[in-house]
Amino acid sequence: MPSEFELISRFFSRPTRQAVLGPGDDCALLAPSAGMHLVITTDMLVEGTHFLPGTDPWQLGWKVLAVSLSDLAAMGAEPRWALLAASLPEACEAWLAPFAEGLFSCAGRYGVDLVGGDTTRGPLNLSLTALGEVPAGTALRRDRALPGDDLWVSGQPGLAALGLAQLQGRTKLPAALAERCLAALQQPLPRVELGRLLRGLASAAIDVSDGLLADLGHILERSAVAAEVFVAQLPALPAGVDPVLARQCQLAGGDDYELLFSACPETRNEVVELGKQLDLPLWRCGRLTASDSHRLALLDANGRELTINRKGFDHFG
Ligand code: ADP
Ligand code: MG
Repeated sequence: MPSEFELISRFFSRPTRQAVLGPGDDCALLAPSAGMHLVITTDMLVEGTHFLPGTDPWQLGWKVLAVSLSDLAAMGAEPRWALLAASLPEACEAWLAPFAEGLFSCAGRYGVDLVGGDTTRGPLNLSLTALGEVPAGTALRRDRALPGDDLWVSGQPGLAALGLAQLQGRTKLPAALAERCLAALQQPLPRVELGRLLRGLASAAIDVSDGLLADLGHILERSAVAAEVFVAQLPALPAGVDPVLARQCQLAGGDDYELLFSACPETRNEVVELGKQLDLPLWRCGRLTASDSHRLALLDANGRELTINRKGFDHFG
């Protein structure tokens, strides 16, 4: 069995391109760029809580980085560095090799250097710290949304939650849809390019990790506004799946890693153009209103209000 140090050097020490000093010393050395703010986030993935036992190691490696890059994207940041703290039940090379491949694939795709971490024995638990940079004063925050702003969401929220329902045997999706949903769940694509281009355009942003309505709630609270969400302007529900489940997943499922953002109506065309440029659908799905009640109203195509439960709602209009 490889020692801790062999394991680190074999699987987690790859040449860095943007660190003064990467893995191997007591600390990494990084040179932040002039005029930039550092943007830092940590996320922990615990087996049994955040992913099912037996999850494919390549996809887990991808996802452990991707979820943190999604947080950076939601701030409009450029991803640059990452640190991985891993608690592993055993030094199983057949697991570690694909896990590292998935991690470094995601790192390569988004231009991130793994500059350090910690490796210890214990229950499978992966904690990743991602660092990015944003020009000082331009970070997208949750607390800058204004009454009158449009509300937008990227991509197709709900697919990942449908993928989880499929894995747990709660639904039986048609094959092609199942494949899309499982990809959304297991290999999410953080919206880094979108976040970067939303700097100076969006008034507030958040990534959808806990469900669209729940995450919208954070913007409302932090910005002291209320919202109307137009269900009919969200992406059409996928065919071949129970519409009640699909709607619940869309509004309250987790693990989407899409961006939910607000922007003033004068910039509508710019946002539409951005979606075209990125080949990423952007849905104008609501608007913010002046009220510090943080109230969230869900409206059907006729403007009738739908009832929302804490994690979903029970009437589809
Ligand atoms: P120390 O005991 O001084 O904290 P460690 O023995 O934990 O150092 O780690 C040795 C080096 O390997 C450090 O540079 C650390 O950042 C790096 N490292 C440890 N685990 C990982 C990992 N999972 N991924 C990347 N680098 C790692
Ligand atoms: Mg250590």
